[in-house]
Amino acid sequence: MRRLSKSKLIAWRQCPKRLWLELNSPKLRDDSGAESAFRIGNEVGEIARRVYDPDGTGALVDVAALGYEEAFRRTDELLGEGAGPVFEAGLRSTAALAFADVMLPLPADGTTAWRMLEVKSSTSVKAYHREDLAIQAYLAVETGVDLNSCGIAHINSSFVYPGDGDYRGLLHEEDLTEECLSLACEVEGWITGAQATAARPDEPEIAMGPQCSDPFDCPFAGHCSRNLPRSEYPLSSLPRLNADRREAIEALGITDLREVPERFLTDHQNLVREVTIAGETRFDRDGAAAALTGHGFPAWFLDFETLAMPVPIWKGTRPYEQIPFQFSLHRVGEDGSMGHDYFLDLVEEDPSRPLAEKLLAKIGPEGPVFVYSASFERSVIRQLSARFPDLAGPLLAIADRFVDLHPVATAHFYAPSQHGSWSLKAVLPAACPGLSYDDLEGVADGKMAADAYREAITPATARNRHAEIRSELLEYCRLDTLAMVRLWEKFRGW
Ligand code: SF4
Repeated sequence: MRRLSKSKLIAWRQCPKRLWLELNSPKLRDDSGAESAFRIGNEVGEIARRVYDPDGTGALVDVAALGYEEAFRRTDELLGEGAGPVFEAGLRSTAALAFADVMLPLPADGTTAWRMLEVKSSTSVKAYHREDLAIQAYLAVETGVDLNSCGIAHINSSFVYPGDGDYRGLLHEEDLTEECLSLACEVEGWITGAQATAARPDEPEIAMGPQCSDPFDCPFAGHCSRNLPRSEYPLSSLPRLNADRREAIEALGITDLREVPERFLTDHQNLVREVTIAGETRFDRDGAAAALTGHGFPAWFLDFETLAMPVPIWKGTRPYEQIPFQFSLHRVGEDGSMGHDYFLDLVEEDPSRPLAEKLLAKIGPEGPVFVYSASFERSVIRQLSARFPDLAGPLLAIADRFVDLHPVATAHFYAPSQHGSWSLKAVLPAACPGLSYDDLEGVADGKMAADAYREAITPATARNRHAEIRSELLEYCRLDTLAMVRLWEKFRGW
């Protein structure tokens, strides 16, 4: 019998078919997005080692370098010595294995007991963390560890980084000893069940369902859905369709939104259905124009790109704080003249203050400031104001001039090609043919922008890649505000 790793057991807990596919057809996995999750995990793990081993007396069991058997042997040696914290300690039974993020020695009466911690990049304990830790605790006991206690160390969202590499307080511990140890029998059952699945010669027959995205998006969804009937307008294109209503519709064998009886839908969902059946764009010109009259000139169009990191790297910032690193600003005068400005600084320092100063220098004191989904831009302005009180007055005055184009689009424009979305990316090509995010090279959404920025400010990034990222970021953010200008022109009837 081969030992199953903790991640394989967790895969089985989500869906036995997932485990079987991981073992037998790993090439069918769609791992897009896994790289950034892996990077975040590494960042947090590294900081945990600094937090729990400030004197550097601890030891890391490097399984990649040692191999499994040597890693287990080294772990036994380190746990036997009890000289300091042990990171990535190898735990195993005959049927399963895991590596514990942090083992802290608690010397007492000449022996050493251990406190075991799993480090998570979330800001709270999730239900699946408990199972994860229960497996770990079971394997620690099986390995022969004198386990005193165990818990989850997750990101403390109220931590403010004081600088100089001082991350004390970044991790908040939640003790789950009793709960996890009491799950030992269940864990044993999970391991037996997972081993039975692993021994199957054929793929388990399990239909897709809620388990495919809970608690994680399953990387085999593409494989499992390959033979399902595809609708041109699936139910997922109905905005805000709740799970119960969706289930009731699916129970009637309906998979295309055009076939859904009216009585199941809200007014807004029915509008999407009607427009889709008609196959024609609905544009309430008068309503859109009325919503945008009386705002005056010059008209400003503003968009921020932001970065949120679990481990803050700039003094005075918090975990997952949205730190703006770029803005694009278009200006349209009453005579139709258009200007453009931007901020983008790809050095490794905190961009917040220079960005705020440039924004204040470039945006004029008068005229509406158009944004798309104002709550995001408003929260960025509020955070900048809180961090730089001397700039708070003029920054908040900009937010007071915000006019949100998103509700105008939602109330007055819809085309079948939007597939139930009023994001700028969905509305733009429908409202302004010829302009589309599909034409961008490289960076084409906010997440890609944040990842590219992070890559660019890493000192190891090559000069030519740096230049490439800069050009992609400028093009992407400029298109965001240009898209707003074109929508605004269309909605006004210009
Ligand atoms: S996509 Fe769904 S059914 Fe298929 S393996 Fe994943 S969780 Fe199981």
